[in-house]
Amino acid sequence: MALRLPIGLAVTAPDLPLRLDLDTAALVANWRWFAEASGRALCGAAVKADGYGLGAREVVRRLAEAGCRDFFVATWAEAAALGPLPDGLSLSVLHGLREADVPAAIASSARPVLNSAAMVARWKATAPGRACDVMIDTGMNRLGLSPEEARSGVLDGLEIDTLLSHLACADEPGHPMNEQQLFTFRSVKAAVPARRYSLANSAGICLGQRYAFGLTRPGLGLYGGIPAPGAEGYIRKVVRPHAQILQIRIVPQGGAVGYGAIYTTPAAARVAILNIGYADGYLRAFGEGRGQALAGDVACPVLGRVSMDLLAVDVTSAPDLAEGDWLEIAYDLPSVSAVTGLSQYELLTSLGRRYQRCWL
Ligand SMILES: *Cc1c(COP(=O)(O)O)cnc(C)c1O
Repeated sequence: MALRLPIGLAVTAPDLPLRLDLDTAALVANWRWFAEASGRALCGAAVKADGYGLGAREVVRRLAEAGCRDFFVATWAEAAALGPLPDGLSLSVLHGLREADVPAAIASSARPVLNSAAMVARWKATAPGRACDVMIDTGMNRLGLSPEEARSGVLDGLEIDTLLSHLACADEPGHPMNEQQLFTFRSVKAAVPARRYSLANSAGICLGQRYAFGLTRPGLGLYGGIPAPGAEGYIRKVVRPHAQILQIRIVPQGGAVGYGAIYTTPAAARVAILNIGYADGYLRAFGEGRGQALAGDVACPVLGRVSMDLLAVDVTSAPDLAEGDWLEIAYDLPSVSAVTGLSQYELLTSLGRRYQRCWL
């Protein structure tokens, strides 16, 4: 007899032991800060990698309501996952147009960001006259046509909406690459007609309005990351992970906690086991005291190794905690990045699928 799986059962309302509190007001305030810093340029938003892990649809909806009109994803799958966008919103697909992307691109209202002469030829054959974006590589040696290619005539006949380039070192304001890339981008701009021009990511906006051109493309800073020195104090925290306590135990002096028994308690300790682990993006880099849970003002350090789904923290100093209580996981992006060696980008994009995402 064939095994029949039930189809169409209503999914019960999730009551998960792990959640992300996501702050709409902070997201919008961060976008407004970048919009202001962009001067006369329009300010868009990078929502690739599912809105840096927060949920791209939810981010787009909130930023569109705040006045953001231009969004960027990496792939056509990400574009499709957003669903049809309301009129007046513009979506660009940064990775451009592989042969396999042609059907998706024809069916979509998003624009490809053409990154090579081959992609340019493919778009001319696929959708002659339809608007596209073009990426110029001004020194990062990642995606894009070289400035020489861009001036060679291969772009003739294209209807270019936005001509882009991307900065390699914008998070280091004094790095000479910034001025070099700006100079190169200006020279391409003078030779290649487009409706508008765009160079700056979050950190690029912080370099000043000379970098803003017609459209900016912040990502990291919208989600609470500090993109460059000088942005501290202006960017608000958006993401706060919380995990529920599954069990509390008293570990006697000399007791071993977790895999490898690498941590033993120097004195009797109260230990809470939380429902979060490296499969939730809370990587082993947080182990051995580098991460903390927060019980109000009390910091509860991580004990031993992070498990796949579980975490032990010392709650000796928070005697009122009980099983079923929730603890915030310390996730201040710049400081946690410094302690773990993980970048702020990695900290955001590794937040997994097992969190209940709660927009406040
Ligand atoms: C990711 C990305 C951005 C946004 O960068 P942040 O550093 O997150 O602000 C902008 N432009 C391009 C081309 C990108 O790939």
